[in-house]
Amino acid sequence: MGEFELIERYFAHVGARREDVVLGIGDDAALLRVPPGHEIVACVDTLVDGHHFPQGSHADDIGWRALAVNLSDIAAMGARPAFATLALTLPEADEDWLEGFVAGFAAIATAHGVALVGGDTTKGPLTISVQVIGHVESGTALRRSTARPGDLLYVTGWPGDAAAGLALLQGRLQGQGANRGALEQKFRRPEPRVAFGQRLRGIASACIDVSDGLAADLGRMVAASGAGAVVRAAELPLSRALYALAGEAGARALALSGGDDYELLFTVPPGARAALVALAASAGAPACHCIGEVVAGRGVRVLAERGELPVPRGWDHFRA
Ligand code: ADP
Ligand code: MG
Repeated sequence: MGEFELIERYFAHVGARREDVVLGIGDDAALLRVPPGHEIVACVDTLVDGHHFPQGSHADDIGWRALAVNLSDIAAMGARPAFATLALTLPEADEDWLEGFVAGFAAIATAHGVALVGGDTTKGPLTISVQVIGHVESGTALRRSTARPGDLLYVTGWPGDAAAGLALLQGRLQGQGANRGALEQKFRRPEPRVAFGQRLRGIASACIDVSDGLAADLGRMVAASGAGAVVRAAELPLSRALYALAGEAGARALALSGGDDYELLFTVPPGARAALVALAASAGAPACHCIGEVVAGRGVRVLAERGELPVPRGWDHFRA
């Protein structure tokens, strides 16, 4: 199978059909329409075999993840995703692998109304770069740099579950049955909070997605905001499955330091709390928990019943 046949067979019609794709796959570049009064939001993330997913992961899970991690970045900006491009480096044109990959990618693309509009296909060690392009009404995007002391700190979902799922897959954590299945699913198929991110505009003062661990990403948000944060360990939401398999201390440690959550961590000024409570109670909203607050100063402190917990550092590819 040649490169052009491969592109035509697997990538020509992936994801949503959109009227704002003036010209999609097939020319030198895609032509995309932007709604008036909006800004373009763009991000890219690369997944390397064995670094960003365990070697031997199912191809459909890799396809899902490659888009999901980008949709999570778009969600954290409060933006609406629209288009994706895909740069794929493959050791060989394995048809089973390609079919699985496209199935996973297409499933989450279609669910979020995203059209695949271009890409690049080359030979080499398995590496996947996905770019997502979306839009947001001008001036309304959420940022990580705009949290203020006194703001309440919230997180969606159940941080730590995905890290526990990865630990189970790699044999570093033991467990069976429904709990194991639920946690592994959280790692294999992250569900970015795209709709909720858009609804946080006008309520949240700042937002970041949790990809490298809650404490580490919180540290980035408050550093960018020129502030600090206090987290109350007792308020960390721990899923029943995580609690059952990791115990209380293990669950808290994973919730603070585990990566791959793709939840939203956001701040809400005290005056917008009622609006957030109403939003969180509305149909389709994820679980939201207040875990602490933004404070004057620098850094993240985690307060437990008996003193402070050490604050874990997040993942850094280049740390010595
Ligand atoms: P060029 O050589 O002009 O850069 P290519 O031969 O790389 O173009 O690609 C031909 C067309 O197929 C382009 O429209 C490109 O965007 C698209 N394409 C190539 N690889 C992929 C892929 N993995 N996913 C989606 N579209 C792709
Ligand atoms: Mg060209």
